[in-house]
Amino acid sequence: MAVTKERVKEDVWIPTSCGQCYCMCGIRVRRQDGIVTQVEGNPDAPTGRGSVCAKGLAASHLLYDPYRVNYPLKRTNPEKGLGVDPKWERITWEEALDTIVTKLKEVQAKDPRSVYFQATTTQASEIRFGVIGFMKAFGTPNYWVSGGGLHCGNGAHFMNGIMHAAWSIIPDFANCNMPLNFGCSKGHGAGHVAVMNATQAADARVRGSKTVTFDPFQSAQASKAHEWVPIRVGTDGALALGLVNSLLNEHKIYDEEYLAYKTNAPYLIRKSDGRYKRDKATNKPLVWDKVDKRPKVHDDPSVTRVEYEDEAHEVAIFGEYEVDGEMCPTGLELLREHVKKYTPEYVEKITWVPAATVSRIAKELGETAEIGSTVTVQTSKGPKKVPRRPIATHFFRGSQGHVNSGWTCLSIDMVNHIVGAADTVGGALGLGAAVCSGYEGTGKPYQIPYPCPDGLMICGAWVYDHLP
Ligand code: SF4
Repeated sequence: MAVTKERVKEDVWIPTSCGQCYCMCGIRVRRQDGIVTQVEGNPDAPTGRGSVCAKGLAASHLLYDPYRVNYPLKRTNPEKGLGVDPKWERITWEEALDTIVTKLKEVQAKDPRSVYFQATTTQASEIRFGVIGFMKAFGTPNYWVSGGGLHCGNGAHFMNGIMHAAWSIIPDFANCNMPLNFGCSKGHGAGHVAVMNATQAADARVRGSKTVTFDPFQSAQASKAHEWVPIRVGTDGALALGLVNSLLNEHKIYDEEYLAYKTNAPYLIRKSDGRYKRDKATNKPLVWDKVDKRPKVHDDPSVTRVEYEDEAHEVAIFGEYEVDGEMCPTGLELLREHVKKYTPEYVEKITWVPAATVSRIAKELGETAEIGSTVTVQTSKGPKKVPRRPIATHFFRGSQGHVNSGWTCLSIDMVNHIVGAADTVGGALGLGAAVCSGYEGTGKPYQIPYPCPDGLMICGAWVYDHLP
């Protein structure tokens, strides 16, 4: 029935969040006489900032779909199988809840751990985490999140957790000049904070940002890229190692300061077992101080830079050094040697990406990274100078949906780390759970990643019980 102006008694706009996917963009919904008549983005909300995607815009179609099942059903046919009618019968909510609660009470009395919850990624985040809260209160640790139509980010999340202390990584589209998509549709209306990223990526194109997409088929993101590079399915990891090789060994482009002071690239490695060479007294990993010409523990103040502009002795990122009568190469030296076999020609054989393209894109990426450039950003503690590295490699379902998924993600992300484009302006940013300043009145706690005794980053908070 059409709602005409004369007959409308109620006409309100309600701020809420879209539940059509896990991004939960901020929206405003218009309700006229109890009927949703309009949905639009809420410009006051940090997610979406006034924009919605086509799916969010169509939310009322789902709400008023005459075939939508919005009441409980009970299976009455005990026989199961393909083609067997389950003989669903409509029941009341009271009967449904009584049935479930009776069963749960029985199980809880016996052993609450025998309850298993299966969640999916396709529901809005608030529901998903509500399930976990309920399980914790119930007393079972047994749950799993999967689905989403695909297996979602199986290799991506733990690697992002290890490398960025975050659930996901995404280019800082607002400041990035060269995002490289490896089988990944972030920035094209998919993934986390989808609408905001899509609008930022669209604005970036206008100011000249160049997108390169590696994808076996001409996907939406491939068709919108400035350069689509077709790649053989499941070989993204080899391509990424080829880019690392080209940067380190062919073009010799790398961010020495970042690698020396913000990563474990300079840690000395025992050749005998491939583990860190450790200080006998403290058991801490050692690095080589090129000024004092001797090994020092990784967190010795003379070889540490906490802030970007702090002074420190020069730490060796390449070479090998004698410690306790044993020659120990740096971690980056071993990596540089390891990737030498990923020549552009070798990579072409595996990936079908022409050798000249591998070499050219590595060079272009390295030059676009503007290693050494800085920018001043405003922080809660005042202005702060930070590196500016406007390139980002990132990945998702397409590149990580194969064997060696985690290693593929690590290899792709390593490109960011070689040029210092990790978690800084213009680069690949950790997204979700990385840092929270806390919110007064909501109880949301302040949290920030912290170093383990070996100096590597540990997540301050994580979505699930098990840390990556
Ligand atoms: S991305 Fe689209 S469907 Fe998902 S929450 Fe935002 S508006 Fe809704």
